[in-house]
Amino acid sequence: MSTSLYQSVIFGPVHSRRLGLSLGVNLLPLDNKLCSFECIYCECGWSTPGVHLRYNDRDTVHRLLREKLEQMVVAATPPDVITFAGNGEPTMHPDFEAIIDDTLRVRDELSPKTKISVLSNATMIDRESVRRALLRVDHNILKLDSAFDRTVQLIDHPRGAYSVAATVAAMKRFEGHMTLQTMFLRGSYRGELVDNTTPEEVEAWLKCVQEIAPRQVMVYTIDRDTPDPDLEKVSVEELRAIARRVEALGIPCSVAG
Ligand code: SF4
Repeated sequence: MSTSLYQSVIFGPVHSRRLGLSLGVNLLPLDNKLCSFECIYCECGWSTPGVHLRYNDRDTVHRLLREKLEQMVVAATPPDVITFAGNGEPTMHPDFEAIIDDTLRVRDELSPKTKISVLSNATMIDRESVRRALLRVDHNILKLDSAFDRTVQLIDHPRGAYSVAATVAAMKRFEGHMTLQTMFLRGSYRGELVDNTTPEEVEAWLKCVQEIAPRQVMVYTIDRDTPDPDLEKVSVEELRAIARRVEALGIPCSVAG
């Protein structure tokens, strides 16, 4: 399967490896990726420069989400989770906090058992409005792909200033109300070796995990085609070995290989 963009504001439901029956919400443009990262493994592919970018507006998101959730509830197949993901970084949306509040209200009214998840690369968590919103959702899932700035630059290509130390400090402020998510992979990017599974990488990452003290950790690897064609999956056995080391710190860790 090749990389692809989500074609609609509300997508799915899909059976997620990590979240169960998941109804997706895409706050980002339908014709391009809009993200503060440009990860070499991104399932949306590379961003296309020069394309006009527009967020999906709050009222449209609210209306379409309500319609879809009503349909699913009437069909007796409510989603396990409503997941904010899509074609980029959801927390960049200027109305992110208000959209989360709308979603909480719709969820409480129509399907109170459904959880709300946000998949985020954590680049916006120092914004107070984003932080407040993430504190209200059930699953605040934040990415940290390496403890080393250089590796983050290589794997995630942050578009602005980024530092692991600042990200870890901002994550600590959630006081455990977060899940840490890490993509493990190896290969090369434009001839440069990429590998966040080396003993040095894993050791330093575990120190970050311990410092952040999230409620849960999710480790996973490539599942589909990636924009960089020279990347490899990490075996499930390796992911499980990493997960055991997280669990030895007293933190549950799930594996998706
Ligand atoms: S943070 Fe997510 S959406 Fe953004 S480039 Fe990385 S994988 Fe793609």
